Amino acid sequence: MKSQIINGKAKAAQMRLRAAEAATRLREDHGVICGLAVVLVGEDPASQVYVRNKSAQTREIGMNSFEHRLPADASEDELLELVATLNRDPAVDGILVQLPLPQHMNADRVVNAIAPHKDVDGFHISNVGLLGTGQRALVPCTPLGCMMMLREIHGDLSGLEAVVVGRSKIVGKPLAQLLMMANCTVTVAHSRTRDLPSVCRRADILIAAVGRAEIIRGDWVKPGASVIDVGINRVERDGQFRLVGDVNFNEAAAVAGAITPVPGGVGPMTIACLLVNTLTAAHRARNLPEPP
Ligand code: NDP
Repeated sequence: MKSQIINGKAKAAQMRLRAAEAATRLREDHGVICGLAVVLVGEDPASQVYVRNKSAQTREIGMNSFEHRLPADASEDELLELVATLNRDPAVDGILVQLPLPQHMNADRVVNAIAPHKDVDGFHISNVGLLGTGQRALVPCTPLGCMMMLREIHGDLSGLEAVVVGRSKIVGKPLAQLLMMANCTVTVAHSRTRDLPSVCRRADILIAAVGRAEIIRGDWVKPGASVIDVGINRVERDGQFRLVGDVNFNEAAAVAGAITPVPGGVGPMTIACLLVNTLTAAHRARNLPEPP
């Protein structure tokens, strides 16, 4: 069997085109230039790359990008003050504080200080609660991107068995909520799950959000299943560093119906969903109908 390789890069590019059109309409019809503020504390190299990519893509689609950098030894109060200023700023529709924060800061306190209607990461306790109770929320970007890919493959997800490996608050848990809302039968597995391979083998939709290189093997995959690999792991092979997912791609691709590669699968969708969330926030704040 030859599985369909899901091209997240191409799908994300289409989404950015649509987002650019929506940003143009917002500007031309309502005089609003949509703005995303990204806050980076410290010098973590991976975070710097993420922030640079987010800012560049925001500008590329004609939105304003406001980048704020604080030194690693900035106090939590300084960061909270910056967040409060951004909350009040009418030019800012979305606020993202890049995680992880330095040890001396309480990430929950900082995230919960963001105005919920500007919380484009969807991590604020209000958005978590709204999503958990099936109400309109700003939804975390990575799970949102996974759902878009799954809808493209399956259309209606009703009745499908979904197994999510990982229960983090940024990926596993919100994704499980979204799959439940889409009428899947959802199992959430984690580090204490017994016999993970046989749990995975039940899945019509198998999502890996673990952070362990290639932990999911080909014989854990049900023939024909859709496999979404969220993991990003940097490994050394033959003296070279490369990125691999949580799924052993070659093994799983021989069995799956559809599979996302790493890189080029879920990753690009995440930033595209951030742009979509910022546009959504800008429309909702002005009571405008949301772009399709
Ligand atoms: P976390 O470390 O927060 O969560 C990992 C989850 O995996 C936990 O629930 C943990 O279980 C579970 N787990 C760990 N080891 C095992 C195991 N051996 N068997 C079964 N379950 C296990 O990670 P994140 O959710 O933040 O990220 C997961 C991966 O996704 C990472 O590689 C990260 O880099 C990537 N990622 C990619 C994004 C993208 O845009 N593509 C965005 C965000 C993350 P327990 O709860 O019991 O500890």
